[in-house]
Amino acid sequence: MKTPILIEGAGIAGLTLANALEQQGIDYLILEKEPSLHAIGAGIAVQANGLAILKALGMDADLPGIKLQQMCLQGRGFRQVLNGDDAWPTRMMTRAALQQLLLTPVAHRVVANAEVAHADVHTQGIALTLKDGRHYEAALSVQASGIHRLGNEPSELRDSGQWCWRALIPGPVRPEPAGQEWWLGRHRLGLSPVDEGLYYIYHVMSQAGPEQDSQRQAFLQQSPVAQVLTAENMASAQWLSHPLKDKPIHWGQPRRIAIGDCAHALTPNMGQGAVLGMEDAYLLAMLFGQNLDKLGQPALWQDFVKRRHTRVARIRQQSWYFGQVAHWQNPWVTTLRDRLMAIAPGKRMIRQQQKWLAQFCRQMQPLGHTASQ
Ligand SMILES: Cc1cc2nc3c(=O)[nH]c(=O)nc-3n(C[C@H](O)[C@H](O)[C@H](O)COP(=O)(O)OP(=O)(O)OC[C@H]3O[C@@H](n4cnc5c(N)ncnc54)[C@H](O)[C@@H]3O)c2cc1C
Repeated sequence: MKTPILIEGAGIAGLTLANALEQQGIDYLILEKEPSLHAIGAGIAVQANGLAILKALGMDADLPGIKLQQMCLQGRGFRQVLNGDDAWPTRMMTRAALQQLLLTPVAHRVVANAEVAHADVHTQGIALTLKDGRHYEAALSVQASGIHRLGNEPSELRDSGQWCWRALIPGPVRPEPAGQEWWLGRHRLGLSPVDEGLYYIYHVMSQAGPEQDSQRQAFLQQSPVAQVLTAENMASAQWLSHPLKDKPIHWGQPRRIAIGDCAHALTPNMGQGAVLGMEDAYLLAMLFGQNLDKLGQPALWQDFVKRRHTRVARIRQQSWYFGQVAHWQNPWVTTLRDRLMAIAPGKRMIRQQQKWLAQFCRQMQPLGHTASQ
């Protein structure tokens, strides 16, 4: 079968690319290894840059989830409150809702049960062979297959030493929805409404592994989260758990371009992983739209990498350090950190988010699109 573009993986990055290609009127096919498309995960924060892309894709009229009115970051010695006016737009939603939003318009182009097992790049295009032997040919493929890239060595991953548990748990949502994060030494907790009567909770522990689960549960029952969620609901929730890792950036090659976590899995400390994948996807579709006659040529891939690399590398590194600082435990160092956090103007954090969006808009402008809020 021949189609100009194959997308490997129907996660957030692959589906965003599919929607953006639809918008450009470019033919494509998505190969997804799972037999059915169900979102694995709990909640997700879509920050200003992600919201801008959903808007550019015409999806802003009926967004799922809840717009945060406030974000509160607190430790034992500081409390920072960011008021979520239009200067700081963040929408919390379940992963399932985001995935469904992106899947619905392109579901007819998804081939399920299609695990890519082998890629053969040649001068005119690429041939992908699936695990079951089926064969697909294209001018190029976009690898959006998540953190475990084909041929990816586990040793490539950088382990933060932190373990994360997350879940969706019922609870009463206030009229002015607020997201909260607590830095409590070895433990970091986050709580945010994602829908009417539903919260997303994450619990990160440093120097931890799955064997610490009962210790973690005991901590949670005594934590500030217990003022919002009942012990019964927390105990009966379906918790997902995994280590927090990132990996070196790798953009693939001209005929097999990597995007999303496949190119640059980040630690989730700044809530930017998925939206950076959405940025990759949207920008790539714009470049394809303007260079249809150059699909698979090195210059097109180099242009994409040049536009993306510095930005992604910076956010990946910031996210890593943010996660380390949040878990500092030395009393002298944490006292100093907390004092600095207490006096740091919340406006600086808002400016940071605005900077991310402005930077992306600047990248998009020469391509003729305004991905504004
Ligand atoms: C705890 C945690 C919290 C997070 N919170 C946020 C947040 O709040 N905001 C945010 O922006 N980001 C967040 N992230 C990051 C975000 O989850 C990821 O960056 C994002 O889901 C990656 O999307 P993706 O499409 O690149 O990959 P994936 O979602 O992994 O999708 C890859 C797809 O490819 C398929 N696939 C894999 N191999 C093959 C193959 N060989 N052939 C065919 N198909 C294949 C898979 O089945 C899957 O459907 C968080 C991450 C974690 C771990």
